[in-house]
Amino acid sequence: MTGDLQLTCSDCGQEFTFTAADQAFFRERGYAAPKRCKACRQAKKMDQGGGGGGYGGGGGGYRSAQTQGTTVICAGCGQQTTVPFEPRGDRPVFCRSCYQAQSGGGGRDSRRPRGGGRY
Ligand SMILES: [Zn+2]
Ligand SMILES: [Zn+2]
Repeated sequence: MTGDLQLTCSDCGQEFTFTAADQAFFRERGYAAPKRCKACRQAKKMDQGGGGGGYGGGGGGYRSAQTQGTTVICAGCGQQTTVPFEPRGDRPVFCRSCYQAQSGGGGRDSRRPRGGGRY
């Protein structure tokens, strides 16, 4: 039986507990002992997140109840972006720069119903 280990985080220098359960878990997976505390590890993870491609969601029921925004793929450049609304399927969603390029771009044929003087 192994006990808990006190390790020192290489990032923030704080001591953190590497519990026996965690040790078993790490050994099972073939991981080396962690060098960072949980908080720093999580910060690191957030840092790296969103990098590599190939993470095209398979459409699993990942529907967060957050109203922060929805992650979508820009119809213009194909990059992942976040929009502050829930896109409907019937119109393409653009990232901010593509959207601005579209609406702010050339002033050709602005089809704006310029009817009455009211807004
Ligand atoms: Zn730390
Ligand atoms: Zn775009």
